[in-house]
Amino acid sequence: MATSGNLFILSAPSGAGKSSLISALLKQASSREMQVSVSHTTRQPRPGEVDGQHYHFVSVEKFKQQIDNHDFYEYAEVFGNYYGTSEVAIDNQLAKGIDVFLDIDWQGAQQVRMKKPDVTTIFISPPSRQALEERLRSRGQDSEEVIASRMAQAKAECSHYQEFDYIIVNDDFEQALADLTTIVNNQRLKRSQQIENHQLLFKDLLAND
Ligand code: GDP
Ligand code: ADP
Ligand code: 5GP
Repeated sequence: MATSGNLFILSAPSGAGKSSLISALLKQASSREMQVSVSHTTRQPRPGEVDGQHYHFVSVEKFKQQIDNHDFYEYAEVFGNYYGTSEVAIDNQLAKGIDVFLDIDWQGAQQVRMKKPDVTTIFISPPSRQALEERLRSRGQDSEEVIASRMAQAKAECSHYQEFDYIIVNDDFEQALADLTTIVNNQRLKRSQQIENHQLLFKDLLAND
């Protein structure tokens, strides 16, 4: 039987680099090992965003219907739009032994922590407020109005940093990626996980001659 996968949450103020870090991490691994959870959202797609790949883009009516159907593991309203994680999708991935990464806000992180206390939570911090603003601009995908609102929300997101298991300061990208890889490997090497992975080995080591 496959060992069930680990669940990770990455939260950060918008523009700190979560999506870039998750995408670089997944590039190094096979999709049989790690996948990102594709959220549902009611926000409009950005140029280049593909439905079903970056998000499942849905109407507010559809999203509310999904809330009523209890389709979401967690959901929250962020920057005036709804965002949510599909319960069936992540359960399927975890059951296959795939490590799953959730790029969700602090409200979602709180909900998942209550349901699944063994989740590993990681807060990605920008190196400074100024760098955060520059990154939001350099991404070149949001209007001035959206950037101003995301900067205003950054403080609210950052005020929850103490609720997370790990903190990565994303200053040098390669270092931040190495830090993230270390956290994932650390989780995989935990005793509970290794006992499941190596059941036959320990049975053999402890067998009578
Ligand atoms: P980004 O901050 O530039 O990545 O912008 P996005 O529009 O992709 O995400 C907006 C906010 O919604 C971020 O705080 C995300 O962490 C959060 N978010 C995305 N997906 C989910 C989700 O499935 N559930 C929850 N609760 N939050 C989400
Ligand atoms: P988030 O998903 O947290 O909103 P993104 O991954 O979209 O953030 O990153 C925001 C912008 O900052 C992108 O243009 C990305 O290329 C850039 N970026 C991410 N990490 C770094 C870094 N360490 N140094 C400089 N720019 C970065
Ligand atoms: P963006 O609109 O820039 O893609 O995302 C804005 C914020 O929404 C990000 O901080 C992202 O982490 C959060 N977010 C995206 N998907 C979800 C989700 O499914 N649930 C929650 N709670 N937050 C999400």
